[in-house]
Amino acid sequence: MALEDELCDVEVRNCRTPVYTWEHTCDTCGGSGTVVSYTGSRKKARRRLATCLACSGLGVVRSASARFIPDPNG
Ligand SMILES: [Zn+2]
Repeated sequence: MALEDELCDVEVRNCRTPVYTWEHTCDTCGGSGTVVSYTGSRKKARRRLATCLACSGLGVVRSASARFIPDPNG
């Protein structure tokens, strides 16, 4: 990669460096798309499944960066 691209700031300039997007497993629900929530009082807590808000039930979340390519295992 050219030094110009490394120093280019996409916020203020039109860079040749592409913006990388990737999807990774949602940390909140672990990829299932649902989370367990408890309703009711402490003594009579009821366990139910709710759609994960972090990923909208998709199980994956999308991220974008122009600065680095993330480690898929990270
Ligand atoms: Zn999720």
